[in-house]
Amino acid sequence: MSTDPVIADAARDAVLEAEASALDDRDPLSHHRERFVGAETSLVYFDGNSLGRPLAATAQRLDRFVREEWGGRLIRGWDEAWMDLPFAIGDTIGRVAIGAAPGQTIVGDSTTVLLYKLVRAAFDAQRAADPARVEIVVDRDNFPTDRYLVEGIAAERGGRVRWIEVDRRAGVDAEALASAVGPETAIVVLSHVAYRSGYLTDAASLTRVAHDAGALILWDLCHSAGSVPVEADAWSFDLAVGCTYKYLNGGPGSPAFAYVADRHQDALAQPIQGWMGAADVFAMGPEYRPAAGMRRFLSGTPPILGMLAMQDTLALIEDASIAAIRRKSVALTEFAIRVADELLAPLGVELASPRDPRLRGGHVTLSHPAMREVTARLWERDVIPDYRDPGGLRIGLSPLSTSFAETLAGLRAVEAAIPR
Ligand SMILES: *Cc1c(COP(=O)(O)O)cnc(C)c1O
Repeated sequence: MSTDPVIADAARDAVLEAEASALDDRDPLSHHRERFVGAETSLVYFDGNSLGRPLAATAQRLDRFVREEWGGRLIRGWDEAWMDLPFAIGDTIGRVAIGAAPGQTIVGDSTTVLLYKLVRAAFDAQRAADPARVEIVVDRDNFPTDRYLVEGIAAERGGRVRWIEVDRRAGVDAEALASAVGPETAIVVLSHVAYRSGYLTDAASLTRVAHDAGALILWDLCHSAGSVPVEADAWSFDLAVGCTYKYLNGGPGSPAFAYVADRHQDALAQPIQGWMGAADVFAMGPEYRPAAGMRRFLSGTPPILGMLAMQDTLALIEDASIAAIRRKSVALTEFAIRVADELLAPLGVELASPRDPRLRGGHVTLSHPAMREVTARLWERDVIPDYRDPGGLRIGLSPLSTSFAETLAGLRAVEAAIPR
């Protein structure tokens, strides 16, 4: 390389550009990117793990729904299709994204509300079976809503929270979980992929650790569904919830999904006893009797409009396959780290995610004291990552809608925005 810094930079950029373009050329999923709205612009989107981009097909689906289904069928639509949608789409999510056989997954409320319903139901069932089981185990770095809910449920039910301390650049491993669970544990609440570091937990092993202690476990799949392989049945999950507006591109505020393993369904009583979860919805009976199976986890009228967009992404994921999506996801995060090492490390930027791809989900966090201001500057330039305290720039690389060239362009913009 030249000793002239300008020439050296130009040579380095040319090498990276050639690498990005070779990776895009070899990428078997690259042609899917153009199906997303806005893919033709120069905007760099690093936030598909927070709010996925819409597919162009979704615009037609929404239009058709208003004109034909809602406008044409009117209230007949409930009997003809919509009543079944929480279960039908739930089964599709089960098949396509989380390894769940039919009859165990529904789409309903927000992740927050579904977490509340399932954690409370599991806590009550566990304590009823064994009064010593009063603890809910959760890690200090879990997503705020998960931590807040667990604290609220413990307070409401006279239970206790047992906190797992965790390195913010990593996550909870089997050893840390084993030292937190015991004869007092009712339920464990963990994220499969940590929202901050991107740490990918070995969910099968940690489920075994919880079960060996007699505890149940709920997996939060918000950052894994649609991005990394999940085998809810094969890994013996008890319960799971996940967002649909992240890697499933369901749109802002689209309803979440809940998984309850067959073996637990009829023993769990969820606390928001609404008419849609009752044994005979239209009997309008004098008192609540929970439906059999997954229907009992519904509460009120399902948000049908919010369930439209995710159907297009689910079809696309089924076509592309989670295995191929994961391969591209690993390639994207490996490339992002390689570029960050080369362009950003010399400026004091550190990797705040696992370096080992087997321990990493679909996003990478880069840390530097100035990242809050850097993020604001990038947004003005149509480069959209997000910011997570302390000093973390989160680069979400959604495999179906992100290219390697886009990744390089975005990281070069980060380089230009870091104060010297
Ligand atoms: C995004 C996210 C949520 C969001 O919950 P909402 O009820 O949809 O706001 C919950 N948990 C985790 C781990 C998340 O990443």
